[in-house]
Amino acid sequence: MDIHTLTPVGFGHAHDVDLDDTFDFLNTDDTENGFRVDRLPTLDAALAWFVDRGVIHKEGADRTRTAAAGDDRAAERELSRVRAVRSALREVSLSLTAHQAASPAALDTINKALHARQVIELVPAPDGVHVDHRHVGDPVDDALARLADPLVTELTSGHPERIKSCASDTCDWIFYDSSRTSRRRWCDMATCGNRAKAARHRARERAAEPGADAAG
Ligand SMILES: [Zn+2]
Repeated sequence: MDIHTLTPVGFGHAHDVDLDDTFDFLNTDDTENGFRVDRLPTLDAALAWFVDRGVIHKEGADRTRTAAAGDDRAAERELSRVRAVRSALREVSLSLTAHQAASPAALDTINKALHARQVIELVPAPDGVHVDHRHVGDPVDDALARLADPLVTELTSGHPERIKSCASDTCDWIFYDSSRTSRRRWCDMATCGNRAKAARHRARERAAEPGADAAG
């Protein structure tokens, strides 16, 4: 039986994480005007993002905050763990898009994160039995495992060839191409796609200036 059939819709304790959440996580390591911008600049920001995406409970986030309060090095350690898994996931996604062998170090980081996943348990329910999950260990480990999960599912039973990186020179977002023809090139047509179109348009206008051949 596929593990996913154990996860009925609407059961009390679900954190629904899909591949878009995973890519949103990767894309928090962002680029703006050619400069890297980390959308998770602090442990606090990372925890808030995890709570927002439902991969960590508020209590778990608070527990991690309390543990790191007044201990800058502990906070830095937690945050670098988050960033390490994030960049490993990005690296593996990029090797997929480039049809290149993934780096063993990146896979090792992801595998370690996956091992910290939740434990599934059956619990009695008024209408029979429900599936619940018990969190073991560290809530940040669990959040990272949950975010890595959809990529693994996509690799095992999805369409990894639809994982792409944005064709824009100024954007390196990873996205899932769900278009019918699977030929999407930009993370978002409204932003990166339009920018690329505008740039092509400007280039055409320049080419069409007096003296040049006005084609198209
Ligand atoms: Zn883009």
